[in-house]
Amino acid sequence: MTPQEKPYPTGMALGPGRSLELDWSDGHQSSFPPRYLRERCRCAGCINEWTGAPILDPSTIPPNIVPAEVAPVGNYAVQIQWSDGHSAGIYSFDFLRKICPCCQEKA
Ligand SMILES: [Zn+2]
Ligand SMILES: [Zn+2]
Repeated sequence: MTPQEKPYPTGMALGPGRSLELDWSDGHQSSFPPRYLRERCRCAGCINEWTGAPILDPSTIPPNIVPAEVAPVGNYAVQIQWSDGHSAGIYSFDFLRKICPCCQEKA
């Protein structure tokens, strides 16, 4: 047996309503509503890199925000190009797993 690795996505798709659907190596499935992900963007324009304090005002996010394009970054993250033109956000797999909506509810 190899040491237990962190779960990583084995499949990625845009689902109904263009939610981001991820299949994980441990069998878990996540579905991220677009707005939920956009609010959690961690780029330097949305989060203070030093303090972690949010800069982004969620009320400025268009209600109909959707990912226009989702591209893999290396083998550790995805970059999402948003319909509002924002594209600096990189979501690491670790981070995505941490903010998985279904796991949040249980916590
Ligand atoms: Zn951002
Ligand atoms: Zn979950």
